[in-house]
Amino acid sequence: MIPEEETTNGHLLNIVLFGPPGAGKGTQSEKIIDRYQLIHISTGDLFRKHLGEGTALGIEAQKYMDQGKLVPDEIVIGMVDDKINTTIGAKGFIFDGFPRTVNQAEALDRLLNTKGNQIAIMISLDVPEDELKVRLRNRGKTSGRSDDQDDQKIQTRITEYLEKTLPVAAYYFQQEKLVKIHGVGDIDTIFNHISEVLDPLQT
Ligand code: AMP
Repeated sequence: MIPEEETTNGHLLNIVLFGPPGAGKGTQSEKIIDRYQLIHISTGDLFRKHLGEGTALGIEAQKYMDQGKLVPDEIVIGMVDDKINTTIGAKGFIFDGFPRTVNQAEALDRLLNTKGNQIAIMISLDVPEDELKVRLRNRGKTSGRSDDQDDQKIQTRITEYLEKTLPVAAYYFQQEKLVKIHGVGDIDTIFNHISEVLDPLQT
């Protein structure tokens, strides 16, 4: 049996890092992980890993990712559930690119509740749409991601975000957990603003 302190039960600092594609979630996640020693759960990265390994889950997800569409909730939730359950010794999780629908947010709440945990805060990176498109196209030159290289796919991802993902911010707002941070400018300045929010939450 795994000792209690090595499981993901008990009080953890769980954060949702939220924002549209290209908002800088990946960049800020790295800095947050470094400072707070959290486990990074990026559903986009997990899907790309599955894809690279040629798993059935990866092949199924690719159908949607290739079009810039969201992968169905059951697939995403199952994958996150598995990741949380197989991670031991975490001080907390940073969820990046998840939840992307209200259904996913509700499932995450249920999942954490069963372990006596919850989301402490959602940090939302605000970036105007024009800036997002420029960033994604620039990232496409080096990321090798086909969904960053095609204007139609970029537009579909932004539309998916506006229609299906934005309501997730309202979900956490109702729980009084939403904090908005201006996501344009110097990376370290943005990170300092995030730290001002997270530092007091550390136990
Ligand atoms: P990302 O790396 O977060 O930009 O995600 C890349 C793609 O993976 C998205 O365009 C979706 O097709 C898929 N994806 C990642 N996370 C999710 C999620 N939480 N729900 C649905 N689809 C997702």
